[in-house]
Amino acid sequence: MSDLDLVIRNATVVTAEATRRCDVGVRAGKIAALGDALPGAARTIDARQKLVLPGGIDAHCHISFDEPSSNDELFFHRREGLAAIIAARNVQKLLRAGVTGFMDPDSLGEIGIDLRDAIEAGIIHGPRMSAGGNALLTSVGGTAGRLLPDEGRRGYGKIVRSPDEIVAEVRRQVKNGVDWIKVHVTGLAPRMQCTGELQVWSYDELRLVANAAHDLGTPVVGHCRGASSIRDAARAGFDLILHATYMDDEALEAVAERSIPIVPTFTFQANLADYGEEIGASPSLRELFKREIADSAVMLRRAFDAGVPLLCGTESGFSITPYGEWHYRELEVFVKDIGLTPLQAIKAATSDNAVALRLEGETGAIEAGRLADIIVVDGDPVVDVTVLGETGRIRQVYIGGVAQPIDPITPERGDPPGWRVGHYGDRILNYDFVRRRNN
Ligand SMILES: [Zn+2]
Repeated sequence: MSDLDLVIRNATVVTAEATRRCDVGVRAGKIAALGDALPGAARTIDARQKLVLPGGIDAHCHISFDEPSSNDELFFHRREGLAAIIAARNVQKLLRAGVTGFMDPDSLGEIGIDLRDAIEAGIIHGPRMSAGGNALLTSVGGTAGRLLPDEGRRGYGKIVRSPDEIVAEVRRQVKNGVDWIKVHVTGLAPRMQCTGELQVWSYDELRLVANAAHDLGTPVVGHCRGASSIRDAARAGFDLILHATYMDDEALEAVAERSIPIVPTFTFQANLADYGEEIGASPSLRELFKREIADSAVMLRRAFDAGVPLLCGTESGFSITPYGEWHYRELEVFVKDIGLTPLQAIKAATSDNAVALRLEGETGAIEAGRLADIIVVDGDPVVDVTVLGETGRIRQVYIGGVAQPIDPITPERGDPPGWRVGHYGDRILNYDFVRRRNN
């Protein structure tokens, strides 16, 4: 016996460069030793024929949304207390998918903050979590158009109308315990004429929000779809950029100069592009998303080659990205569409992704000194990353060396009244349609 708490024997360990056969020893929540024939411990498991990887990190997951199929449902059919209770259940699905950490950039009310604190206090099982508060939006809005008011708070958003309101909201969120300030730098507007989305914050406003957050030791993450928004957010000092699609040379240069990590989040688009037909998405929408990936993959590859970290995030939390199902999918897109090797994709989803948790260098790798956030997998993701998405492949999940529950979640759930958008039918009931059918 030794002073180790846990020994994983005969493991094939996936490191940043290659795989290696050895035992993994854990002490006091951290990986203490890698080596051959480590002494036994209170708990010893045999991982022969299995791969041992750092637990997955998802840098973009909306844990409080509960899989809405529309903005209408998300903004008008959610109740904060109930959403928090449901989030406490949904977060367990991430564990079962081998996710040991995630970032929730914005949430309904302050559910993200509360859920993180509940997990850290041991109230419920869940991955490590970093939390934003409400996304900051100008009154032009984000991707929900007129559903958002011109001022105040709705759903996951807070509309800021002036420099004073920007600073006040940043301070309020920091006081309440956010890990990140999230800014919707672009949005959708009627009759807009641009590629991607419209930049809805001025450069000066971006500087202001970044400075206000940095003064309080808090990093800033921006939702940016469109070249100018990426360029301006990078120059303004943003610490992380979500999407970063439709980059041009100037934007790429601004990001590369500062080596700002990017979370492309193609899972949402890839799912709609590949499986949209099954769920009745319109062909034009599917085409749009397919194009966004194709058009942006080249620039993201150039960013990667210039040393910009690309991080895996999936936008899990919507009806086409349900919890626990697609967390591996971004790795697949990174390999297929951006041309990363599986090992590079795994690194993007683990050690590089630790920055999203604000745990850079502390988790995300099987190395002595790192937090013992470890998964044991039946299958070889170094050959094919999609095995990480297959049911039953994730055999053990450890967070800080503590085994997490991965048995099926009970009871089977339903939806509380009014939770989903009800609709009368799938088509307009024209008189002619009925008459034709009756004849
Ligand atoms: Zn998102």
